[in-house]
Amino acid sequence: MSVSPDPNPRPVTPDDLRFMDAALALAFARLGQTAPNPAVGCVIVQGRRAIAAAATAAGGRPHAETQALEAAGAAARGARVYVTLEPCAHYGQTPPCAAALIAAGAAEGIIACGDPDPRGAGRGTAMLREAGITVIDGVRRAEAETLNAGFFTRIATGRPLVVQDGRPGLFDADLEIGPDESFEQALDRLGRAGMTRLRGPAGRATGR
Ligand SMILES: [Zn+2]
Repeated sequence: MSVSPDPNPRPVTPDDLRFMDAALALAFARLGQTAPNPAVGCVIVQGRRAIAAAATAAGGRPHAETQALEAAGAAARGARVYVTLEPCAHYGQTPPCAAALIAAGAAEGIIACGDPDPRGAGRGTAMLREAGITVIDGVRRAEAETLNAGFFTRIATGRPLVVQDGRPGLFDADLEIGPDESFEQALDRLGRAGMTRLRGPAGRATGR
């Protein structure tokens, strides 16, 4: 899943990996709390120092980037912004995160993986590049695709990902099949309700 065919304009550094790992940890800690939106982590860095960090708020808003940029304030000018998912580009109730990065004067956007949402899908990175922001794409892509597996599954199929996992807190809900519906009908209903990751009953796993 590539954001863009453009090659990265500079090599990925050990600091890039370190700060993206921090952003991923923030996002993983919010998994199961942000449906229908993805759990995103964002770390803003000046030089070798993180000056602000945030994850998508419970309930899906505000997004990670807007919170981190607000915390950084004027210090975000010239900063590197690490995000676990391509910043959104859709103008809805609030301006998109890509516009917020541009307005804040960020120098670089370091992105783990692209957003398959049809309202985004490469437009976030295109907006950054058009504004003169250096975009580094694919940093910790495999980890980000694991993080976003539920969100990506719902975008692709309309249904949530069903996972067998004993750990609490990683799921939007448990999969509960009503008395008058099939397994598939339950997935369709829960997908329409915005669920992205469900804890499945034993023996009914359909995904990772
Ligand atoms: Zn956003």
